[in-house]
Amino acid sequence: MQIAPLPIAKPVMGEDELEAVKSVLESGWLTQGPWVQKFETGFAERHAVAHAFAVTSCTTALHLALVAAGVGPGDEVIVPSFTWVATANVVVHCGAKPVFVDIREDTYNIDPDAVARAVTPRTKAIIVVHLFGLCADMDALQTVLPSSVIVIEDGACAAGGAYKGRPAGSLGHIGCFSLHPRKSITCGEGGVVTTNDPDLAAAIDTYRNHGASISEEVRHRGPKPYELPEFKVFGFNYRLTDIQAAVAATQLTKLDRFIDERAALADLYDSYLQRFPWIRAPMRPADYGHALQAYVVMVDEDRAPASRNEILAHFQSLGIAGRPGTHSIVGLEAYRKVYGTSPEDCPVATKVEAQSIALPLHNHMGPGDVERVIRALETVA
Ligand SMILES: *Cc1c(COP(=O)(O)O)cnc(C)c1O
Repeated sequence: MQIAPLPIAKPVMGEDELEAVKSVLESGWLTQGPWVQKFETGFAERHAVAHAFAVTSCTTALHLALVAAGVGPGDEVIVPSFTWVATANVVVHCGAKPVFVDIREDTYNIDPDAVARAVTPRTKAIIVVHLFGLCADMDALQTVLPSSVIVIEDGACAAGGAYKGRPAGSLGHIGCFSLHPRKSITCGEGGVVTTNDPDLAAAIDTYRNHGASISEEVRHRGPKPYELPEFKVFGFNYRLTDIQAAVAATQLTKLDRFIDERAALADLYDSYLQRFPWIRAPMRPADYGHALQAYVVMVDEDRAPASRNEILAHFQSLGIAGRPGTHSIVGLEAYRKVYGTSPEDCPVATKVEAQSIALPLHNHMGPGDVERVIRALETVA
């Protein structure tokens, strides 16, 4: 008998998302409009920030954040090496230099001691990643960063997450989020930029829409139909469509339920994994709200009955999807060639790339699916 495959992640979509999309298609206003506004208001409220801007992805959110922060040639931006490549690519696209810093093995997040060593007079900004939904140690970072450094949160995985009672996206100067299907809530592709700073908010709003001084919506619906926008800067088109925003706004109402359901599955993983002295469960400190975009364990290859890659191949043979946590950017070819980086620059990130496993975690799963993964671990030989 063939058992259904267990994917690493799978979005949950309902009748209400369908209805919302239908209403947009019937309305005739397809790009940034009332649903984007509704989504932005809800997202800002949930993350306790004054402003939220919907954009096309977290990658474009990060790019906008850097542009709004004035990052350009001659500037350095500190980035953890263990993250999705987009976190560093956007720095390159601004003409600035990414400065890679190692992570802590226990949290998978940027190491504040390493940040302290990486700061120079050219450090303009830092992109702090809240990897897999766990916030980075913002207090420790605060103590090592000069006050002139702009702090950008890469919260791609951390929608709904928190640090010591404060939501992700409200912890630095600018926060960035993803609405990709591998993340906590999704509309296919999409992103969000958050800030409490009115000047940064104005810049983000303008650069998102070609650099225009007024939006299409205001132009079309406003009292002065003859008015053309002024263009004082070179902007982009990073607007989210209202079709996507209708899905995103509906998903946002389910964010906390999704996190609670995944936390219950994570608790179950935690308790079963105590049987395996060669696996370390992810750290979930009590005073953090882990958003659990992913459940990533470390394999101790000295004690494990098989290598990490053999375990992933064993999973595959049983129809279970497992993946390495993510990559270490200093080992990627583009960065090695242009910036002369090497895997040894960030040994912890390189180790975690080689020995981590993201186990299946999503809102279609039940306890039986967790038990299936545990059985697969028991039969690793
Ligand atoms: C997914 C991810 C991104 C990119 O998000 P997109 O919306 O796909 O552009 C950036 N940073 C991190 C940490 C991510 O996990």
